[in-house]
Amino acid sequence: MKVSSEILNLKAYKPGMTTEEAQRKYGRTDFIKLASNESPFSLPDSVKKLVSEELSKTQIYPDPTCFELKKVWAQRFGCEETQLVFGNGSNELIDLLIRAFCEPGDQVLTGSGAFMAYKICAQAARVKTIESPMTSDGRLNLQDFSKQLESSWQCPKLVFIPNPNNPTGTYVPGTELFEFLDKWGGRDDFLIVLDEAYNEFVTAPDFPKVDFKNYKNVCRLRTLSKVYGLAGLRLGGLEAPEFVIEVLDKIRNPFNVNHLAQVAAGAVLQDKAYLEKVKTHICSERTRVESILTEKEVSYLPSQANFVLIDLKKEYTEVHEALLKSGIIMRPVANYGYAQHLRMTIGTKNQNTEALNSLLNILGHTKEESQGVSQ
Ligand SMILES: *Cc1c(COP(=O)(O)O)cnc(C)c1O
Repeated sequence: MKVSSEILNLKAYKPGMTTEEAQRKYGRTDFIKLASNESPFSLPDSVKKLVSEELSKTQIYPDPTCFELKKVWAQRFGCEETQLVFGNGSNELIDLLIRAFCEPGDQVLTGSGAFMAYKICAQAARVKTIESPMTSDGRLNLQDFSKQLESSWQCPKLVFIPNPNNPTGTYVPGTELFEFLDKWGGRDDFLIVLDEAYNEFVTAPDFPKVDFKNYKNVCRLRTLSKVYGLAGLRLGGLEAPEFVIEVLDKIRNPFNVNHLAQVAAGAVLQDKAYLEKVKTHICSERTRVESILTEKEVSYLPSQANFVLIDLKKEYTEVHEALLKSGIIMRPVANYGYAQHLRMTIGTKNQNTEALNSLLNILGHTKEESQGVSQ
């Protein structure tokens, strides 16, 4: 059978190495996985209890409309229930947006160092990705996005703006984003997708709070995979103008969001104390990790997310392998154009300390020096 060249040439998304995989490969059982921007916290006990009670209903199909979750979400994030669609992770929603709004040969626009899922989903749908170059400090360059929109012979159908971005941890500040949205937010020939997977971790005062309802063509993607600790159950949401929701509702699989994910999401979204606990922990550990890196003169991109992109100043392979041998899983991001970097997820305090100690040792700091990293 003939397979199209786009599919044959597709480089599948390479997720972070799982702990099990590392165990099989390196024969140790005490791995610290800081490779996939997961939360170091499991769900609150009350949510776990609820989910385990619902386990007795798995012979029944889930609610295809996510009725209860929509109510909770709309209230929590301030949008209408008619402006919502959920997916099996936000990754599915990215896929659906491209399938719904692009035809083979169309284009989407994002940054060269932006989250990889946009490009992969596009290619799978025979859609090209215009990659706007990042700024020298690793940020999306919306002025260049504008240039691309003005100059491309064929207008992109979707513009993906991950804010903060993965894997850089950088963000587009309010002035730049609002200037962009004022210019392009009234168009009806393309959609602007703000992907805010990490927005709960932002502390920068100039981070933009966008109300998508002020624009004709702006959508917001959220995920419960990061701060809310639901990566394993899969739940993402798209807040968008009704016409977008209607189209995605037509093409999505009717049972794309499983029952346990719906129940867990509805419950965890109402637990403000849990959100505060996770946020506070991640933000204070991020500050601690960054200040240790600064003190030890290891370069990194200042992050507004739950990970830090560390600049090794040399090709990543050896350091990555040495880290694995010492029981630490970090994430190579060479496929994003960062071949001298590793991305470290912020974990528990002990995990971060161990990871940094191993990294500093590998990078040639002596034991004495790295004793500066204390518990
Ligand atoms: C992790 C991540 C997502 C979320 O993916 P899910 O499919 O919801 O787990 C979306 N966008 C970005 C930029 C991410 O880093």
